[in-house]
Amino acid sequence: MHAEAQTQTASGSAASAGSDSTHGAQLIDGTAIGRLVRRDVAEEVERLKALGITPGLSVVLVGDDPASAVYVRSKGKACEEAGMRGETIRLPADTSEDALLAQVDRLNADPNVHGILVQMPLPRHMAADKVIRRMRPEKDVDGFHPVNVGKLSIGERDGFVPCTPAGAIELLVRSGVDTRGKDAVIVGRSNIVGKPMAALLMQDAPGGNATVTVCHSRTANLAGHIRRADIVVAAIGRPEMITGDMIKPGAVVIDVGINRVNDASVPKGYRIVGDVHFASARDVASLITPVPGGVGPMTIAMLMKNTVRAAAQIAGV
Ligand code: NDP
Repeated sequence: MHAEAQTQTASGSAASAGSDSTHGAQLIDGTAIGRLVRRDVAEEVERLKALGITPGLSVVLVGDDPASAVYVRSKGKACEEAGMRGETIRLPADTSEDALLAQVDRLNADPNVHGILVQMPLPRHMAADKVIRRMRPEKDVDGFHPVNVGKLSIGERDGFVPCTPAGAIELLVRSGVDTRGKDAVIVGRSNIVGKPMAALLMQDAPGGNATVTVCHSRTANLAGHIRRADIVVAAIGRPEMITGDMIKPGAVVIDVGINRVNDASVPKGYRIVGDVHFASARDVASLITPVPGGVGPMTIAMLMKNTVRAAAQIAGV
């Protein structure tokens, strides 16, 4: 795996960025790969515009959660950069569930809106699953609607895949990692990351055909499972939980985790780390995603990609 991944990535530019023979694994540069995806998206936007279609994404933000506000702003900016129409609908935290559902109905019916995203988490008095089910699956660019979850499960390609796991697969593919026949271990079974990641890695498609094991908090001998993996995907939400001694030499490590840990030595008082202990894992892996700068930048890039595809599919072009 080690030699193979390195040879293949040598030609793949973005994955070899940041490589340094004195530090073990090569870095998978999500910022650079995300830029490539966005460039492809911008080209597709041009094609659609020439046909009279401007792809449009509407993001609904309920309440004033500061982290959600940051995500929503960056989604709007990414739309603008790609030449798409981006709209943010801000609703007060005390909006009723019915009013939110009525908003979703309006967006479902609006021909200028191709992608709808309701930013999670929602205030407690709203049922997220009800809101997700209300969206037209054809506009559910987050890929959370049961129709899209089902399409992923049965391998129908016209559905939408959740952006973070789709981005993780894109990193593997664009880094030249051959997943076929490899043992992949995913730690985490959430509907947003772990489960769709398992479906993607096992499907008969590029970035798939792996033999997949999904671990969670009840898994016995977690380290034992991770130790035999050619590909490790960490989606746990526990800072630096997977350490280098748990990783098979030459494995590819995809760290989805984003955790804030206190650090008095930096002006901000905190730093962002993944679910993998980067320094020790880098010593044994062949390829590894850094945090930040790995999976994170891919999420919005894949959202843009899903939205242009929604526009093309709805228009039938
Ligand atoms: P969830 O909290 O929904 O899921 C975490 C999963 O990890 C659960 O399946 C849980 O098991 C499992 N888990 C927790 N503790 C352990 C343990 N000690 N041993 C084994 N398994 C464990 O998180 P998400 O999937 O939403 O997110 C995971 C991480 O990814 C977070 O750090 C999050 O911030 C990050 N993230 C990053 C994104 C990005 O854009 N890069 C987007 C989304 C998430 P169980 O089911 O048994 O409870």
